[in-house]
Amino acid sequence: MGTEQPAGPWTVLKLLDWTRSYLERAGVDAPRLAGETLLAHVLACQRIDLYARFDSTPTPQQLAAYREFVRRVSEHEPVAYLVGEKEFYSLTFHVTPAVLIPRPETEILVSEAVNHLQGLGRPGVMWDVCTGSGCVGIATAMQVDDLTGLATDVSEGAVAVAQENAERHGVTDRLRFRVADLLNKPADCRDLSAFDVITTNPPYVTNGEPIAESVKREPTEALRAGPNGLDVIRPLIAAAPDHLNIGGVLILEFGILQGEAVCDLLDAVEQFDDPRVIRDHQDLDRAVVATRLS
Ligand code: GLN
Repeated sequence: MGTEQPAGPWTVLKLLDWTRSYLERAGVDAPRLAGETLLAHVLACQRIDLYARFDSTPTPQQLAAYREFVRRVSEHEPVAYLVGEKEFYSLTFHVTPAVLIPRPETEILVSEAVNHLQGLGRPGVMWDVCTGSGCVGIATAMQVDDLTGLATDVSEGAVAVAQENAERHGVTDRLRFRVADLLNKPADCRDLSAFDVITTNPPYVTNGEPIAESVKREPTEALRAGPNGLDVIRPLIAAAPDHLNIGGVLILEFGILQGEAVCDLLDAVEQFDDPRVIRDHQDLDRAVVATRLS
């Protein structure tokens, strides 16, 4: 906006066009979507509503607020943190810098969990480990009415955000949110045993792997997991069978290059059958389902 004033006032359409090229030059991913998300937030409307008001002119206050958001995004602050929410599995989740921003690829964990739980023929019990914003556990509970269970994270800040999301989506009577390190079950949850499903999107980025500027604003403890990225996945796989029913499944997300290493870890656990690798929306190996057989 600085010196490149357009002819006439800043309409919604002009703002979006300007923002796209400005953020593109700043090296921001999905610049058009970023502009739309920020402008819809400032105008307190849905993104889709912007299309019906391309010719309208935001007030000077709205323009100032929008300009400030765009500046921050050009410096790689994630849009989701600025607007305080992110869509996942068609649900809106509150997010803060205390939690990893839900990714579309993680939705496959929910689809797998829902499939398994719906096939049980009785109410299922789930544990979502490393729950972060709570997105996987909550989205699953929204799909499976009789589901109960537990969602845990080692970060107190994350559990507070997850709890808030559970309240927003009305599942606090079915899911408990607790601070816990990996599969160390909280003392007040001992009544929950033998889970049908354990889902987890743990940290798995290798320590040395470069990450995008905006990802650097997300909690390191939700991302990095040692020299080969397996420091959290390894203990999770080792402990999971003790908490699963016979026939219960571990549904675990991993990095696209870790499929073989993760399958080796699962193969080494006698109680699991052959792991099944599943692909994400981009057709990349992204998660694994392992069933406890004995
Ligand atoms: N897929 C995420 C990213 O690369 C990482 C998520 C994770 O470590 N669990 O940004």
